[in-house]
Formats: sequence, C-alpha cells, structure tokens
Amino acid sequence: MLKENEKMHELSIAVGIVDLAEKEAAKAGADTISVIELEVGAVSGIMMDALDFAWPVATKGTILEKAERIIHHVQGKAKCLHCGAVFEIDNLYDPCPKCNGYFKDIIQGKELRIKSLTVND
Ligand SMILES: [Zn+2]
Repeated sequence: MLKENEKMHELSIAVGIVDLAEKEAAKAGADTISVIELEVGAVSGIMMDALDFAWPVATKGTILEKAERIIHHVQGKAKCLHCGAVFEIDNLYDPCPKCNGYFKDIIQGKELRIKSLTVND
C-alpha cells in the first residue's frame, strides 16, 4: 500500500508533466497530443505504480487525457568516489561493487523528462 504523501508526490509530478506538455503543444499549435514519451531514471525517486495511479487524475480534461504514454526506463549509473569504478545502480544507496564504498556521483538515472510528444494537427 502506498502512503498518501507518496501518491501526492507523483500526482504533483504528473501535473507538472501536463503543464509542460500543454506549453509545448501550444507552441506547436496543436490541440491534442496522441503520444507522450517519458524517460524515467531508475534512481529518479519516481514510483511507477504511484505515477500510474496519479496519471488519469492529473490528465483528466487536459490535452493529455487520451494520449498514449510510453515510458523509457533509464538505468542508474554511478561513479565511485573511492576507487573510480563506474557501476550500475538500482537504488540510491547501492554501494560500489568493487570497494563497497558508499560515496559516489550519480551520473545517470536521476532524470525524469519528456522525451517526445506526438501532436495531432
Ligand atoms: Zn569503489
């Protein structure tokens, strides 16, 4: 079961995506969006089931209501600050597999962005 504040987090994210999509569609002079592609990083902090739950609420009555949503998952990657190893991570607290160090730079996987919008004109 999801906690209420977690749902709220994803809802505000979904609302933010709708805002951006509406601005982009307005720039393109489009009335509806048929496909939206999102990139979601493994360590972006987004819970996909919470986003799925929030999506219909956030998009209802908006330009995205009928849009197909395609999610591209982005693998998390980090560089160890101790030994310099670059490794894949699934969550923020994964240690370095080489030296077990916990200090690292996240180099990939924190992104949440709109990759593309397909508009109907
Ligand atoms: Zn290391």
